[in-house]
Amino acid sequence: MVHKLIIIGSGPAGLAAATYAARAEMQPLVIAGTKPGGQLMDTTEVGNFPGFVNIQGPELMAKMREQAEHFGTKFIEGDVTKVDFSKRPFTVWVGDAEHHTDSVIVATGAQAKWLGLPNEQRLRGAGVSACATCDGFFFKGKEVVIVGGGDTAMEEANFLTKFATKVTVIHRKDTFAASKIMQERTFANPKISVIWNSQIVDVLGEQAVTGVKIKDVNTGAESECPCQGLFLAIGHKPATDIFKDQLSVDSHGFIVVTNFTNTSVLGVFAAGDVHDPRYRQAGVAAGFGIMAMLDAEKFLAAQ
Ligand code: NDP
Repeated sequence: MVHKLIIIGSGPAGLAAATYAARAEMQPLVIAGTKPGGQLMDTTEVGNFPGFVNIQGPELMAKMREQAEHFGTKFIEGDVTKVDFSKRPFTVWVGDAEHHTDSVIVATGAQAKWLGLPNEQRLRGAGVSACATCDGFFFKGKEVVIVGGGDTAMEEANFLTKFATKVTVIHRKDTFAASKIMQERTFANPKISVIWNSQIVDVLGEQAVTGVKIKDVNTGAESECPCQGLFLAIGHKPATDIFKDQLSVDSHGFIVVTNFTNTSVLGVFAAGDVHDPRYRQAGVAAGFGIMAMLDAEKFLAAQ
């Protein structure tokens, strides 16, 4: 059997694509992964997904899945282990099982990188966050620290000044990797200060974050920086290891797309955080999923 469309991934991008594809009678097959639902499964309150004033991340994903299933989407709970996009129909393996398809949407997402600090995961959701856009709102009138020196760190530091009284960027080098314009915006913001050449070695606090312990990389001297929030902005890792020899990816591993959702292989589309280091929002990912499905539908119609 050759499927019309296989969707790899079951976060907002994959599930939005599935609902649209099922309603377009494309009988989509979603390969959901062994940890289905994506990054929102690790999130508590979501207050910015259109249509929901307040919903828990896992509940939102359950609703999206229910909607996709309602219109006839089939699911396989498993990880894709290998793909062959070199000839059509394409082949997608889940363990030993082979699946053939005329088109594919890759929506495998990305994961935030963490520092691996002793108390980082324990205080996640209690002041430690990897998404300022999602959680900045909870830091009104508070002092926060952000770690990283790329565009994300600059953008999020500036965003956090809308809420926080003070934002301290802690960076392990003496220069930022971010684009010049983003750096200039950061230096010009009176609420932002920078601590250079320093690494965070732990996050402090029992019930909630009370500060971070930092170490000067040149002298080894340790000190504490009081704050109520620690935001990580040290990059994201897209789940593209199995596609790297089949699809073009950039230097960070994100899938390269042209003309909105087309990958380097005709008939293979990408949607969501797997190609998007810039917006990284569930609503945006869902939108990309819908775009990819519409592009896949057009591609199939033209065959
Ligand atoms: P980057 O990989 O560009 O930057 C990561 C930063 O985190 C670097 O400064 C790096 O430091 C630091 N870092 C990494 N690991 C650690 C660690 N273990 N401890 C301390 N610091 C660490 O990631 P971004 O998320 O900033 O950006 C990803 C891509 O997305 C980039 O191409 C960026 O340009 C793009 N982007 C574009 C935006 C826009 O156009 N508006 C907005 C956001 C991102 P070091 O330099 O020492 O390695």
